[in-house]
Amino acid sequence: MRKIAVFPGSFDPVTKGHESIVIRAVPLFDEIIVAIGENSEKIGYFSIEKRLDWLKKVFKNYSSVKVMTYHGLTVDLCKELKANYILRGLRTSADFEFERNIGQVNKNISPKIETIFLLTAPEFTHLNSSIVREIHKYKGDIKQFIPNKLTFLR
Ligand code: ADP
Repeated sequence: MRKIAVFPGSFDPVTKGHESIVIRAVPLFDEIIVAIGENSEKIGYFSIEKRLDWLKKVFKNYSSVKVMTYHGLTVDLCKELKANYILRGLRTSADFEFERNIGQVNKNISPKIETIFLLTAPEFTHLNSSIVREIHKYKGDIKQFIPNKLTFLR
């Protein structure tokens, strides 16, 4: 059976932390689908179109990585895509508590789907999208936080 993983998130915007998790997961899965969750109650800072476009650019040289948007439950998307794995990154103990909750609920709803965690690379532990948004909002320089391919965002 092909190993297909969904990497769900907001990616608002994609950071070097996200990029690193996906690249490290490439050898582990036949296909990785980076899926931007569209939340009708929460409008993002960057538009969905921009986030999608940036993710496509970041992973364009990785043939097993696809990018898409979705509404609704991640486990339903997994079923639709025949993905048996949800990929997530772990930075801190706060991430762990949050992820354990979601992971265990997902396991209850869909026992066949496994959540796989990769520990963040130490140099990206401090990095999250909300910090990048805050710096961008006040016209700070975000280039050290976003993938090198995204020169236009700098
Ligand atoms: P969400 O909105 O679900 O928190 P994010 O877009 O913030 O989604 O993140 C998607 C995934 O990437 C999550 O599993 C998150 O833990 C992981 N992630 C985000 N930043 C980093 C980082 N710096 N290092 C490792 N994983 C990260």
